[in-house]
Amino acid sequence: MFSTLFAIGFALVAPRTVVASCAHGVEWIHPFSATVNGTVAIPAFSYGTTTGPLNWHNLNTNNTLCGNGTNQSPILLNTTTSRAPYGSITLNVPITDSAVLVNLGTNVEVILNGTLKAANSTWKLLQFHFHTPSEHRIDLAHHEAEIHFVFTASDGSAKLAVLAFFVQVEDEHTTPVIEDILSYLPDVQIPGTTTQVHAVDMSAFQEHANKLSYYAYTGSLTTPPCSESVSWFIATSPIPLYIKVYKALKDTTKTNNRYTQDNPGQTSNIESTIPEKNWVVPTRHKGGSSSH
Ligand SMILES: [Zn+2]
Repeated sequence: MFSTLFAIGFALVAPRTVVASCAHGVEWIHPFSATVNGTVAIPAFSYGTTTGPLNWHNLNTNNTLCGNGTNQSPILLNTTTSRAPYGSITLNVPITDSAVLVNLGTNVEVILNGTLKAANSTWKLLQFHFHTPSEHRIDLAHHEAEIHFVFTASDGSAKLAVLAFFVQVEDEHTTPVIEDILSYLPDVQIPGTTTQVHAVDMSAFQEHANKLSYYAYTGSLTTPPCSESVSWFIATSPIPLYIKVYKALKDTTKTNNRYTQDNPGQTSNIESTIPEKNWVVPTRHKGGSSSH
């Protein structure tokens, strides 16, 4: 483990520095260390074919867990899934005028400060982003979208946590702060571009969020490098979003959900279905001849 400093300078916003305590998974969380003049480096993986989720483990040796991890996310959720004790989740995001919206090509990400208290730990917010449709499923069903708030441990350890919310498209209800943020999408239609988001007030959102119930389990990042030991807290009830807002999001993020993984502790479904000769990871080689 080692410390990494990511200096981020956006042409349109005040220079901003983010310190990550450990690189374990953080290369994905902050893939924009090469930021120049309001642009960011977009990741090499995709949700397409050859660079899509079924082949992430072959794209980079750092992505091994995407293929053979045994505690991968997302998973199926149901009534037997563990829950966090009610009232144990506290999200706190101060009002800010300096959030940054980033189009990563595979996703749109909002960078801002905040904290989470959960599982007797305090976590530091790095960013939140969107998946369309949802990645986790409840009783086999996807929601229209899923929002992931990504945190690092405030004690400087390598631990990560994700606070997740399903999005349900509705005619008569929305979540104003999410709608406000997504109103900036026209400014970042080109992958790799960024813009400043003004007057982000999460007060009502977090007041609502702190009253919800949450599934809780230990899984992974749902994107390369698929790092494990991620503490997941997923609200059991969705937040609403107007259909026009959802459509703007979907038009930008396209389809960016990883396929459902096996239950925690079970053999990866890639490892159990793809012939061994395709594996580039020697530690998982089970013997026999290899032709390449
Ligand atoms: Zn995510």
